[in-house]
Amino acid sequence: MFEVTIEESFAAGHALRNYHGRCENVHGHNYRCHVTIEGDRLDDIGLLVDFVALKKIVHAVLDRMDHQWLNDLPPFDAINPSAENMAKHIYDQVAEGFKDKPEVRVSSIRLWETDLASVTYRP
Ligand SMILES: [Zn+2]
Repeated sequence: MFEVTIEESFAAGHALRNYHGRCENVHGHNYRCHVTIEGDRLDDIGLLVDFVALKKIVHAVLDRMDHQWLNDLPPFDAINPSAENMAKHIYDQVAEGFKDKPEVRVSSIRLWETDLASVTYRP
């Protein structure tokens, strides 16, 4: 089994609904996102996935959230923009980008809200 991981970052604002504490207030994060892809077989030049192709798919997903107010951005207008929900959303969107590549699958999304706190989603 091979795993390939990239790290990307974006900035966004949010406020957690029905959270009774400071995170209920408007604030922002410089998010860091680790995207890990896995698979058993390498292609004929020895790659699991081309970093360039992986970054292109991940950028397309994260660019939609970069410098946005998440609470107004679907699906976070309906569900809380918690790191947990964001990691699952990123997973689903990145997995959609790999739907034509059955030889690899998205293993996990690790989303860092701060240098000391992260959430990992893996199905
Ligand atoms: Zn927050």
